[in-house]
Amino acid sequence: MRFVIKPENHKTATLSSQATADAILEIATNMSKDNITDKIYRESYGDPDEKRSRVEDQLALSYHNKCAYCERLAKADIEHYRPKKKVAEDNAHNGYYWLCYEWTNLLPSCVKCNREGAKHSKFPIIGNRVYTPSFLANNQLDEDHQKAQNNPLMNEIPYLLHPEVDNPDLFFGFFIDPSGNGIRIKGVDTQNRGDGTIEVCLLNRQELRLERVENVINPFKQSVESAFVMLGDGIYNDDQFVQQIIFQINQLIINASNEKSTHTLLRKFIVKSHQNFSAIVLPYLASSIRNIVLAAFKSI
Ligand SMILES: [Zn+2]
Repeated sequence: MRFVIKPENHKTATLSSQATADAILEIATNMSKDNITDKIYRESYGDPDEKRSRVEDQLALSYHNKCAYCERLAKADIEHYRPKKKVAEDNAHNGYYWLCYEWTNLLPSCVKCNREGAKHSKFPIIGNRVYTPSFLANNQLDEDHQKAQNNPLMNEIPYLLHPEVDNPDLFFGFFIDPSGNGIRIKGVDTQNRGDGTIEVCLLNRQELRLERVENVINPFKQSVESAFVMLGDGIYNDDQFVQQIIFQINQLIINASNEKSTHTLLRKFIVKSHQNFSAIVLPYLASSIRNIVLAAFKSI
């Protein structure tokens, strides 16, 4: 997960239309959940050859074709951050039906984070649950109250972090799985919202643990180890070897701030300190080059 700015003007014309505003008002006023339609929140192009969605394409602009939660490159569902029809943790809740077309409530999520025992209608919170929409004196919806970054929704303090509201960098750390099955993510905040997010979206599933190694660690490992081979073969002298290691570490740093990279949360964690780098990267390298690589990291 990384912090994302999703501009209001990326909304589709249909989501921005008066007809949709009227539809939301009707749904919110009458709690008519059956009238919620993916013709609006998904909006297919109607292409008979493929099921493309205008809203998915617009969300992909800000999320760079990545899942909002796990940051894999993935074909994303339109995910209602606050579930639109029911809340798994609260039988008395009718779902956040009035947020069915709300731009800040629509996120791109991969199937693995959203279905298959993961998020779906889960929405555990720490604070005060919101059960009904807010109306103004003229019976119109209070649009400010529908936005994820405003109260009363913010006051719910959801366990699931919102990539457009919360700064994920403050909530997570990583460690190598003790059984050797990849890299695990962990929560580090005192309210356990990081751990809550991991639990809701199953962010320690095997596929992700192994992909973190495959996508983030292995390219670096292959580059520095091949440089070491070239040193042994006399193709690089000592200086050239060290320069090559520094170059590869700089690539790690560049990729960590490139919002198009996968797994940027892990990439940023790794380059944040030599302690993190030592704990996550060095164990994957041949023991003979760990000290040289760590010294190069510290020199930057
Ligand atoms: Zn995902």
